[in-house]
Amino acid sequence: MEKIVSLAKRRGFVYPACEIYGGFANSYTYGPYGVELKNLIKNLWWKMFVKDRDDMVGMDGPILLHPKLWEASGHTEGFNDAMIDCKKCKHRFRADHLVEEATGQDLEGDIEGMEKIIKKELVKCPNCDAFDWTDVRTFNMMFKTQMNGYEEDVYLRPETAGAIFTEFKNIVDTMRVKIPFGIGQIGKAFRNEIVAGNFIFRLREFEQMEIEYFIHPKTKWEPLFQNWLDLQEEFTLRLGAKKEDIRRYEHPAEKLSHYSQKTVDIEYKYPFGFQELFGLAHRSDFDLTAHAKASGEKIEYFDPVEKEKFVPHILEPTFGLDRAILTALCSAYNEEDVDGEKRIVMKFPNEIAPVQIAVFPLLKNKEQLVDKAKEVYAELRENYRCEFDDNGNIGKRYRRQDEIGTPYCVTVDFDTLEKDESVTVRDRDSMKQERVKLDELDKYFESKL
Ligand code: ATP
Repeated sequence: MEKIVSLAKRRGFVYPACEIYGGFANSYTYGPYGVELKNLIKNLWWKMFVKDRDDMVGMDGPILLHPKLWEASGHTEGFNDAMIDCKKCKHRFRADHLVEEATGQDLEGDIEGMEKIIKKELVKCPNCDAFDWTDVRTFNMMFKTQMNGYEEDVYLRPETAGAIFTEFKNIVDTMRVKIPFGIGQIGKAFRNEIVAGNFIFRLREFEQMEIEYFIHPKTKWEPLFQNWLDLQEEFTLRLGAKKEDIRRYEHPAEKLSHYSQKTVDIEYKYPFGFQELFGLAHRSDFDLTAHAKASGEKIEYFDPVEKEKFVPHILEPTFGLDRAILTALCSAYNEEDVDGEKRIVMKFPNEIAPVQIAVFPLLKNKEQLVDKAKEVYAELRENYRCEFDDNGNIGKRYRRQDEIGTPYCVTVDFDTLEKDESVTVRDRDSMKQERVKLDELDKYFESKL
């Protein structure tokens, strides 16, 4: 992780936020290449799950939503985690995480059980080794704020899904959607996590890409559920993950929410172990029924063919964008030995590489070379994500582009001008170089990228 965090900062992917003030609460800024990567992943998701499907529509709801929504969904009452403090070193921990690390048991939600295990099994403070704990307390993870015109507390949404349920009626009334269909949305969510950490894995302000997929209550949902899991894995592979680093974790029946028939996490093998990347849950009619009841509005679907009204059931595939970015960074990171020297190279898949082609003049101080290189750059950037670089020697420029993950570098040299109207194209992964005619360059990259 240290190597990835260091590269992410050194190469402008991710900076710790507010460093000039000593940093702030495990928050991070996506730098110039980081925001490109983020947008590419978002676009890939939107295309795969919204634009390219006839059974999906998109929307973009607000972060601040009616407080009644969070009462109806159960978040105001129950969106809690369990925390415990070490009295000696004052470190704070998620009590369920401590138990899981010590015993492998998942006691999420069972405060008494956690208390018993931590205190009876002499679980020591992972930070200072002491055995001097406070009680286990629950903590609501929603961020509160105030809004003009409202007496009660307003919350920053802890998940994006809420607004999809409140707009279900509008979308059914205004769009020509037919069940089964889904609504997709990308946006920020906020959780006052007890312990943030592992770089951008667990943040307090993060982004989600969520789908609510509405089905008939009598539909055979199992094949649809399997299909969503397969698609979530396919998306993970497109981030560059290897098959063997992805696995599924099905939540045991006794841990499921009362309304869920099945919940499966897609886990990725991060440097700190297999952890949840994405999730898929069958949520029955819980959400629509709860919002109908709390709002007093009928939320139903009318099937004009069967002349039947019903409350749809929901399959909910949810994707963490920041965890997807971390997966892309971890999967891309490679160290190679090249003639006794270490080469660090980010092997991003072409479709998410922030820069696809870097263009160099062989020398910075030869005007003709620079002009020609700028000409090539101007042409290529019309179709590809390109960067021009004339700093330092070619070796240094290659090293930099390897760490940014640029699949191809193009160098304009004296032969280009005087002899063959060709350039050298260097491949990131094989490091092989070949000469390509200038007038064939566009075709060449069309097939490669
Ligand atoms: P965890 O068990 O890791 O806390 P969760 O089960 O609470 O996650 P969900 O409520 O299912 O997560 O949220 C959906 C997705 O949002 C997760 O699969 C994850 O990718 C992402 N996510 C959740 N919490 C965070 C966070 N604090 N930082 C970054 N991404 C998050």
